[in-house]
Amino acid sequence: MIFEYAPAPESRSVVTLRETYELFVDGAFTPAESGEHLTTVDPADGSELARVAVAGPADVDKAVAAARRAYDTVWSRMSGAERGKYLFRIARVIQERSRELAVLESMDNGKPIKETRDVDLPLVAAHFFYYAGWADKLAHAGLGPDPRPLGVAAQVIPWNFPLLMLAWKIAPALATGNTVVLKPAETTPLTALAFAEICQEADLPPGVVNILTGAGETGRALVEHPGTDKVAFTGSTEVGRQIARAVAGTDKRVTLELGGKGANIVYDDAAIDQAVEGIVSGIFFNQGHVCCAGSRLLVQESIAEELLPLLKARISRLRLGDPLDKNTDIGAINSAEQLERIRELTDAGEAEGAERWSPACDLPGSGYWFAPTILTGVSQAHRVAREEIFGPVLSVLTFRTPEEAVAKANNTPYGLSAGVWTEKGSRMLWTAERLRAGVVWSNTFNKFDPTSPFGGYKESGYGREGGRHGLEAYLG
Ligand code: NAD
Ligand code: MG
Repeated sequence: MIFEYAPAPESRSVVTLRETYELFVDGAFTPAESGEHLTTVDPADGSELARVAVAGPADVDKAVAAARRAYDTVWSRMSGAERGKYLFRIARVIQERSRELAVLESMDNGKPIKETRDVDLPLVAAHFFYYAGWADKLAHAGLGPDPRPLGVAAQVIPWNFPLLMLAWKIAPALATGNTVVLKPAETTPLTALAFAEICQEADLPPGVVNILTGAGETGRALVEHPGTDKVAFTGSTEVGRQIARAVAGTDKRVTLELGGKGANIVYDDAAIDQAVEGIVSGIFFNQGHVCCAGSRLLVQESIAEELLPLLKARISRLRLGDPLDKNTDIGAINSAEQLERIRELTDAGEAEGAERWSPACDLPGSGYWFAPTILTGVSQAHRVAREEIFGPVLSVLTFRTPEEAVAKANNTPYGLSAGVWTEKGSRMLWTAERLRAGVVWSNTFNKFDPTSPFGGYKESGYGREGGRHGLEAYLG
């Protein structure tokens, strides 16, 4: 007997949206000098959620000045134990408001509530708890007896994990005694603004955290502002390059977390059902809007014929639709621009000779949607094997020997993540040693923990976030 799933939507009533949001500067919500606003939409149906202020150069000046004042007069002088208390308080408020924040994140981003509720929000709170614990132990972090904060940090984040990327940036910066000016992405500003309210609720001294909304121009004005000591950026390799050029020749410290084209290697001795689950979560988690996604499947040729039908059967059972439905596995694509990029690259894969497959699946009539897709017969020269698609599209390649698997996996300008599926420990270690990737998962994929450093090689950027390594990026 087959049971049909009944809709199980999470209620939107836990979220109170304002029509218009202003900038968060020096502890208060303040209109932008220009009076300009941009609109953020719900990508599941394209409806308007709210208008948010667009910060210009004058607003960046004000926010940087407020952060400097807070740094000089309060935050850098406070004991680590006192700073830790604020961070613990923020972490607890996040836990208390986690249902509301999960719904808001799903509305603004389009990702399934199952993920915001069970992955994003628990990790956001865990990050603040983890770095709160470090605040009074910095002398024991292996970075000298008295490591010093850098000053004011300019931080720019993308839209794929809005609140989680904010946590990755703000928690270590504050724990180490820095103050921050952060710019969320233009399509997902709402949870950062809710976080601003949380800073007020936690009585954080004014100016320690400033949130400036706006698009690329606001980001540029912030990272190029001469009054900051550190730039932390997560986003595309293209913008990362521009930022590296902009700060070259200054004494600013920089960390860049950029794109990826992760290989997921499946050897012939792998537990095949587990590998199928790992391949699916590796590329379809968060609609594939994941910098460390396992977007290139490298499967040993001798098992490809067995594995592909199992993979297709599993993908056929994924449920695509309303992000707020608790049964949903695949939500909406974050924006019309991103949907266009995914379409363009996937079409290019087909034009270059790859075979395209998607399960029968009804896409909603409004909003931005893309069916889960796999491309087989992909060769290393194809664009879909080299360029980041950042969507629910898996490129499948095969290999015969472990040497060939490693050579193909490393044949990319990126180096952020990889997965290795094998029952044999020696083969696992042999492979991991040779992969040029910041994180290598073994018989699992997309596992995150605040204690574990994360970051890339080559064009995936430099610097590490998370763990003890994440402290180093904010201490002199
Ligand atoms: P993007 O680089 O266009 O935008 C990221 C952020 O930078 C946004 O806030 C944007 O407004 C801002 N920005 C744009 N132009 C700017 C400029 N000239 N100066 C300063 N800021 C500017 O990237 P995107 O398309 O929004 O995000 C997707 C990309 O981010 C993917 O390539 C993905 O791999 C990468 N990413 C990497 C990680 C990681 O940890 N390595 C995590 C998430 C996303
Ligand atoms: Mg939005």
